[in-house]
Amino acid sequence: MLDVRGLRVDFHTRDGVTKAVNGVTYGVSAGETLAVLGESGSGKSVTAQAVMGILDMPPGRITGGEILFRGRDLLKLKEEQRRRVRGNDMAMIFQDALSSLNPVLSVGQQLGEMFVVHRGMSRKDARAKAVELMERVRIPAARQRVGDYPHQFSGGMRQRIMIAMALALEPSLIIADEPTTALDVTVQAQVMDLLAELQRELHMGLILITHDLGVVADVADRIAVMYAGRIVETAPVHDIYRAPAHPYTKGLLESIPRLDLKGRELYAIKGLPPNLMHIPPGCAFHPRCPIARAMCATDVPPLYEVGATRRSACHFWKETIDG
Ligand code: SF4
Repeated sequence: MLDVRGLRVDFHTRDGVTKAVNGVTYGVSAGETLAVLGESGSGKSVTAQAVMGILDMPPGRITGGEILFRGRDLLKLKEEQRRRVRGNDMAMIFQDALSSLNPVLSVGQQLGEMFVVHRGMSRKDARAKAVELMERVRIPAARQRVGDYPHQFSGGMRQRIMIAMALALEPSLIIADEPTTALDVTVQAQVMDLLAELQRELHMGLILITHDLGVVADVADRIAVMYAGRIVETAPVHDIYRAPAHPYTKGLLESIPRLDLKGRELYAIKGLPPNLMHIPPGCAFHPRCPIARAMCATDVPPLYEVGATRRSACHFWKETIDG
């Protein structure tokens, strides 16, 4: 359904050019969940914004690649056509529901507006649809609460309302950008379960952007790991957990807190993510990589085929997978 090929995005600032996305290729099919994982600044959100067509341009600039949605390159569409795709076929869920919802409109008005604008419904019918959606995302007493304002709901309930808004027009693709980061752990799990359940039920493609490997284990089919604006590993979720094929993925996995290793110091990948104005030559991860060799500082690793459905951008992926 979605096929991103060789996407490149730069940001032009007074200090220079930030190379935020450097040739990203990934895809998602109907009914599939792809988790895109990486630290802040790895390019995962910028890629998603480019797919949605909501990138700030300028300062952003798409300098290469294609974004094929059902075979059509979205980058070649006029803004009006693009807006139609965004309204009807794909939707985005953001991290911070409070700043994404309008504080002076009731949630019923905001949900209903989608049906008035995109489906030409009357206000009365749109309100009934809003209640239906709120029930679908399990907001208790939806009929009584449809006139309430965003600040009258808890963080978890607001995030459910964001999910309801995204689902309103039954898109075939949803991009969820850190949808549970602002919530506490129990609510996080409930919201993720709800999202996964609705995704299965509606057979949508879901791109789940996160920095948290713990969140994706139960819901994702595949993972794409990003570093310095590139995909460094992509594989079915179980393969990655069983034996990562890139030292960066391995580091991310080792830094998940584990109950069975109580008392042991938590692993942290040394160093900091690179400055995207000055990406290190060769493998961008080499200054932080525990197994880097001389060639890593000069030769950019291609995405090696590790198996039929796995790729790793590491010259020494065999060593990583075995060890
Ligand atoms: Fe580490 Fe070299 Fe592999 Fe990069 S290519 S991840 S530096 S071993």
